[in-house]
Amino acid sequence: MSNSKLHSDQDREDRRAATGQDTGYGGEPHGAAAKGIGLQAAWRKRTPGEQPVILIVDDDLAQRLLMRETLYDIDLVVLEAENGAEAVKVFGRNPPDLVLMDVKMPKMDGFAACAMMRKLPGGQDAAIVLVTGLDDFDSIQQAFDIGATDFITKPVNWPLLSHRVRYLLRASKAFRNLRQSERRLSIAQNIASLGNWDWDIDKNTVYCSEQMYRIFGFTQGESAAAYEMFLARVHPEERESVLDQVKKALQSRKPYSIDYRIVLPEGACRNVHEQADVVHDADGNAVSMHGTVQDITERINAEEKIRYLAYYDALTGLPNRQLFLEHVNQALLTAQRDRSKLALLYLDLDRFKRINDTLGHSAGDKLLKKISICLADSIRSSDIVAKACLPCKSGVTLSRLGGDEFTILLTGLAEGEHAARVARRILELLSLPVNIAGQEVYVSGSIGITLYPSDGDDVDTLLRNADVAMYHAKESGRNSFQFFSEQMNSRAMEKLSIETDLKKALERRELLVYYQPQIDLITGKVAGVEALVRWQHPRLGLVSPAMFIPIAEETGFIVEIGGWVMLESCRQARQWQQQGVPPLRMGVNISSLQFKQQSMASLVRQALEETGLEARYLELELTESAIMQNVDQVNDTLNELKEIGVNLSVDDFGTGYSSMSYLKRFPLDTLKIDRSFVKDITTDPNDAAIIKAIIALAKSLGLKTIAEGVETEDQLRFLREQRCDEMQGFLASKPLPAAEVEQFFAEKRKFCQFF
Ligand code: C2E
Ligand code: MG
Ligand code: MG
Repeated sequence: MSNSKLHSDQDREDRRAATGQDTGYGGEPHGAAAKGIGLQAAWRKRTPGEQPVILIVDDDLAQRLLMRETLYDIDLVVLEAENGAEAVKVFGRNPPDLVLMDVKMPKMDGFAACAMMRKLPGGQDAAIVLVTGLDDFDSIQQAFDIGATDFITKPVNWPLLSHRVRYLLRASKAFRNLRQSERRLSIAQNIASLGNWDWDIDKNTVYCSEQMYRIFGFTQGESAAAYEMFLARVHPEERESVLDQVKKALQSRKPYSIDYRIVLPEGACRNVHEQADVVHDADGNAVSMHGTVQDITERINAEEKIRYLAYYDALTGLPNRQLFLEHVNQALLTAQRDRSKLALLYLDLDRFKRINDTLGHSAGDKLLKKISICLADSIRSSDIVAKACLPCKSGVTLSRLGGDEFTILLTGLAEGEHAARVARRILELLSLPVNIAGQEVYVSGSIGITLYPSDGDDVDTLLRNADVAMYHAKESGRNSFQFFSEQMNSRAMEKLSIETDLKKALERRELLVYYQPQIDLITGKVAGVEALVRWQHPRLGLVSPAMFIPIAEETGFIVEIGGWVMLESCRQARQWQQQGVPPLRMGVNISSLQFKQQSMASLVRQALEETGLEARYLELELTESAIMQNVDQVNDTLNELKEIGVNLSVDDFGTGYSSMSYLKRFPLDTLKIDRSFVKDITTDPNDAAIIKAIIALAKSLGLKTIAEGVETEDQLRFLREQRCDEMQGFLASKPLPAAEVEQFFAEKRKFCQFF
């Protein structure tokens, strides 16, 4: 059938059905096939077997019929229109691959229709062939001007037409494929924010992809692309190095790969990554360059954000430990090379925890922020650093290591001692009140200083030694600074070894309890004993609690030790009772950490149950600092303990901070007057007055008083005159092992001589 010039109606129907095409010469596609037509159809991808679509436009029905029949042996879908206006409509619905269009038509001629089609979606892809008069040169010229692909002259050479159409369809297909791959490339470049350029060096012309214009903030066609125009957008600081790279690449004929910033007209910056290569001729002369530019701003921003999170402290914005370590390492390299000095100041705020505990964590955070701003400002603006450091190499970095710990690194230091100037200034600054949530808060700090090269030549040693020096500053009264010394180090080492040994002391049964008698100042009889823990260290001998209790508190080990002492002393008290010793009170020291962490009531209940001691013989010695924090919670615990029936005393009274109102409110029994007041009562009228006042206060609150550290008869006399209830001290007895206290009970008449 394909050989026959004219084909049957049935055949035509079949074709239409196959393509979803309606009958009638208007050839408007309907149904499923038509639905896909629209914007996407404009650059719709044709599947390999899909027939090309041709649109025949002529007002002469015979002409259309002839054309259609002529093309019959080509496998295509034919659409028809009888004038320009209708052709534009058909085109809009179903962009064809080829348009064969008469020029002269009513309503709208071929030129106008061609011009309109070119503007439609897909209009650039179709081949539009205008059918003009043989000698109508004007029309041929005009057809070219409005963008026709080709022309055919009338009268049409019918035998040639189908060949012509085949050629045109092939060209159109190639053209369409080209445009499609260009589009694909453009889409891919868009997704990758990647542009490309070619630079013809001789002609100095540059081709740039659409994306390239976009990245550099130009609108395409704004001006002809020129290398200088793009270079002008490169950040001024980097322009030189970009040019340098290009020159080097041209000379060496090697590719390059660089990152740089560009500045857009409105001032925003973009980061780009550029890769380019040089093409050269047979003589080795560079003739052109080809490159890609990728917008990597988002990646760089993300990297910067990650870097910020990794290197800066979120609360204060200061460099964190990680960055600080890097800074010190860098500074050490420079100092080694220049043979210069550097100092590392380790600052820890004093009693910062107390602020957190009393004002809450958000107030604590605010305080840390304010302090870091104040430190940063002062370090940046003040002349202290300038005076301490050599002008040429000086540098200072403030970091927050975590919690309430800050470090200051001073480089290019003229004299090691000059770091003291900086430390002093920081302490002065810290002593100023800070306003937090309408409340004036006073903080102080302790600073440890290490110097390079004398105190260490690596960051770990310098930091560790500065930490040791800082602790030393704290121990020697806080609000001060200390330079590191080797002696400190050996003390710190000893402390560390004690810390390690202490962990094993309990299981190795190295802990003992000594008991110190407490004497009733009216009867002269033993009213009670205080349990005082001792450590029989295998190497150091008997270690005083003054040495190891603070370490046990720092490490939290006190909780376990305290629990053991409680059980051991209750057991001892019960044993004495069973041995016939008249019942006496057993005083047990409770650390503030233990009081906070342990459920005191259940610990006490358990110890009493386990040993069979009656509650009224147990007295818990609490420090002022333990009971003056979280007073509501403390009050609950104290009441719970009181319900059990134990006695409660305030130890070392007068050395801490007690609020009268709480002393009144809490269910306390005893005040133990600290030894420091007792020591000079007979020589210092002030101390005598304080003791009198404490005893009077205790009486008014209905509390018993026990004077601690009584060593002389004069002290004893004074205390009796003041009607202090009990005394404890070397005058009566030192703390003794259980067996020796038993002897003391037996011979207690010895002590009664004073009464
Ligand atoms: P503390 O509770 O104030 O105990 C009294 C301290 O004063 C004891 O020191 C005692 O030996 C000493 N002392 C008593 N009379 C005199 C005197 O006349 N002159 C002098 N110079 N000192 C006297 P010790 O045993 O070294 O204990 C020191 C501190 O260690 C205790 O002070 C207490 O705070 C703590 N501690 C002792 N045992 C424990 C315990 O089991 N748990 C807890 N949490 N702390 C304990
Ligand atoms: Mg005590
Ligand atoms: Mg005491």
